[in-house]
Order: sequence, then C-alpha cells, then structure tokens
Amino acid sequence: MELLKEKIREVGVVVSDEVIKLDAILNHAVDPVLTTEMGREFARRYREQRVTKVLTIESSGIPIAFAAAQELGVPMVFARRKKTLNTDTETYCERVPSFTKGFVTDIMVGKEFLSENDRVVLIDDFIANGDAARGLIRIIRRSGAELLGLGIAVEKSFQAGGRTIRESGVRVESLVRISSLAGGRIEFE
Ligand code: 5GP
Repeated sequence: MELLKEKIREVGVVVSDEVIKLDAILNHAVDPVLTTEMGREFARRYREQRVTKVLTIESSGIPIAFAAAQELGVPMVFARRKKTLNTDTETYCERVPSFTKGFVTDIMVGKEFLSENDRVVLIDDFIANGDAARGLIRIIRRSGAELLGLGIAVEKSFQAGGRTIRESGVRVESLVRISSLAGGRIEFE
C-alpha cells in the first residue's frame, strides 16, 4: 500500500536493526484518513470471504481493526491484556511473549464474543516473531470459529512471524513489508 509506505518514510523512527517506531500513525497517535484507507484495503482483500467478525488486540490494533470492521459492516472485538492469567471459565486466555516489552503477557477474549458460527479476520499493527498472532489464533481455534486469515499493517519480513504462519497454512495479508532496518535505513520489499 503506497500511501502507508510514504507515511512510514515520513514519520518512521528506526530505533534498532529490528524495531521501528511508528508512534505518529499507529502506536501513539492516529491519522484518521490513513487508518480509514488501511481499513478499506483489509476489507477489499477479505470481502468475498463472508467475514462475521474482526478480531484484534489492544491497544494499537484497535483503530485499524475498527476501520476494517466498519468497511465490512461487522463487529470488532479486541483481546485484552491482563496482568495475571485468568483461569475463569468465561474467557479464553493465552500467554504470549511480548516482542516490544520483553516479557510475557496474558491475553484474553470473553467467550461470549467468539463462537463457532464466526468467520474471523485477525488484524494487527505489526508482525515480528508472530507470538501475538499465534496466541490470538489459538483463541480463535479454541472458540470453534473459523480463521479466514490475518491482516497486518506492517510485516517485518526479516523476522519469522509472517513466513511461519503462512507455512502453517494461514493466509497472511500485509499492507507493507519491511525487509530490513539495518543501519537505520527502511527497506521495503
Ligand atoms: P510479535 O508477537 O509478532 O513478535 O510482535 C508483534 C507485536 O509487537 C505487535 O503487536 C506490535 O505491537 C509489537 N511490535 C513488533 N515489532 C514492532 C516494531 O518494530 N515497532 C513497533 N512499534 N511495535 C512492534
């Protein structure tokens, strides 16, 4: 998606060979025009799949997932991050390592928000190692819902997440793919 690439070139701050900050558009502030366009693009790619629900994880996935859900005309659900692993019977909980924070977090979705009748698209801001996505995929599978695929704003293709999830047979759609951040330079595929 050219518009997203342009914005990343404009506002992206490379903080290491592995991490880029996109606070101005994804992680601290929201550009409504760009976010709406990202939602449209996700919707375009999945519209034929009879989506019933868009799932994401708080907090940075929420605006783009909302935009996609709005375009598709379906509800959006966001997994919440919990401090302690919740073992109650009303929620699906999974423990995932957090790429940016460097520790594990527990994510949960209330059982009332996902069912075996759902056809789900999973949206997130970044994919790096794929741990967050895999945790959400486990939740979708446990609920009995069908996973139609992932919609990722920024795939860092020099990290293994996108590739390994595709290899497991799951459709992964990314709006842009960054092949390298080495030396402070942003290289797109
Ligand atoms: P993963 O679980 O795929 O390793 O990491 C995905 C999560 O880590 C994303 O939801 C995102 O919040 C965060 N993340 C991973 N890489 C980056 C990055 O380069 N920049 C920012 N801002 N967040 C990232």
